[in-house]
Amino acid sequence: MPVRRAPSILFLFIANSLLGLAALSDSAFAQAVEADVAVRVDDLQFLEVSVQSINDFVFKIEGEGAIFLINTSEGSVLVDTGTPYAQNEEQRRAIREHATGPIKKIIVTHFHGDHSGGLPKWKKEIDSGEIEFVGHHRYGYMSRIQDELTPFFLRRYHPLYPTRVSLDPNRPPAIHWKMEPTRPVFPGSDYEFELGGVKFVVIAPENGGEGEDGVLLWLPESKILFTGDLFGPLYPMFPNLYTIRGEKYRDPLDYIDALDLVLDLNPEVIAHTHFRVIEGRDYIQASVRTMRDAVQYMWDETVEGMNAGKTVWEMMRDIRLPKHLEVSQGHGKVSWSVRATHDIITGWYYYDTIANMYHVPPSAINGDLIELAGGADALAARARVYLSQGQSLEAIRLLDIAAGHETRAVLEARIQAVEKLISASKSGLANYSEIGLLEADLRASRALLSGTSAKQSTR
Ligand SMILES: [Zn+2]
Repeated sequence: MPVRRAPSILFLFIANSLLGLAALSDSAFAQAVEADVAVRVDDLQFLEVSVQSINDFVFKIEGEGAIFLINTSEGSVLVDTGTPYAQNEEQRRAIREHATGPIKKIIVTHFHGDHSGGLPKWKKEIDSGEIEFVGHHRYGYMSRIQDELTPFFLRRYHPLYPTRVSLDPNRPPAIHWKMEPTRPVFPGSDYEFELGGVKFVVIAPENGGEGEDGVLLWLPESKILFTGDLFGPLYPMFPNLYTIRGEKYRDPLDYIDALDLVLDLNPEVIAHTHFRVIEGRDYIQASVRTMRDAVQYMWDETVEGMNAGKTVWEMMRDIRLPKHLEVSQGHGKVSWSVRATHDIITGWYYYDTIANMYHVPPSAINGDLIELAGGADALAARARVYLSQGQSLEAIRLLDIAAGHETRAVLEARIQAVEKLISASKSGLANYSEIGLLEADLRASRALLSGTSAKQSTR
């Protein structure tokens, strides 16, 4: 079991969220930009199992990946299945305690392991036809990428989630990525059914949410919308249109369409997987509209910048949400979405240098640059000048040239630069992935510095 860190932070977050929910009005979104999101996203992996009732027949089985249980007089429906790890047994016990009949259908909102990971526990009933597994028709495709590239993704996840025991590279194959929905749902063709007098509508937007395979479940009578990770883990937040741990880009225009669909349904409750259930028709309309308009703003600015001949780097620097559209960037980040949008539209060739048409990377001449500079320590000295002027990013670019040739001075300058970036991020957008990667970089430099491999000089 992972050591449970800082439970009080999670408690404070929940308390703050509840207070915030009551206090928020249409014009008060600035207050919804909370500063401790990086810590809170990290807390997800330590969320304990508990059961919350949303009404008299819908329950949230809380956990790292929450499961929703919907009871009817003719059996029950699950939305998502939780993670594949030990906690899943506890969640299944809670399901058995609260389900009033047999599980008839399992709707998996998308392929991510915290939503699909518990599927194998139901495989026998799914294979026998006792339980229908409902998912987006792209579930199989998205899972296939995850499954075939498991070693690649694990290498990327480790720096981001260092405390996570669940990322053991020797774990058995993930069966949940090899299961296909027995009832696939296609965009433009909702899956409507009735069970025990309750109406269910499964909707498959095109590229909605965290992947191409996000589905929504709508209960039209009680006006509850189950959104999986359509909005990401926080609420309200700027969507994670590019997740830096590595996944396909998510299309901003398709995302806007998915949010318009939510606005049209006009839900009273959003049963959002992570952290909290969102309530209040007016609040939901206002917050979803703000998130939609923020993405639209980012899109419009990027298109304008591209047409005006701005580089992707200039747009990453310049495009900022206006005050009235500010939402949390603790998970998704505007500047990364700008670059994702640019790259979705135009791909990887930036018309900056013909060299990028070929296989020799910029780093191929780093050794020459070090030699011309008179050694890696000269780069460190220049990096210190940048640091003294508050230009940490230029310092990092210089120090990157010395990668593989680090001297003590290089490592010390790098640690200083990265510490500055971490404190700027923590007091700014507090983006979870950004801070995670910066901290991983810091750990690597410190390890090199404390080891015998830190050379005095490369020359
Ligand atoms: Zn999730």
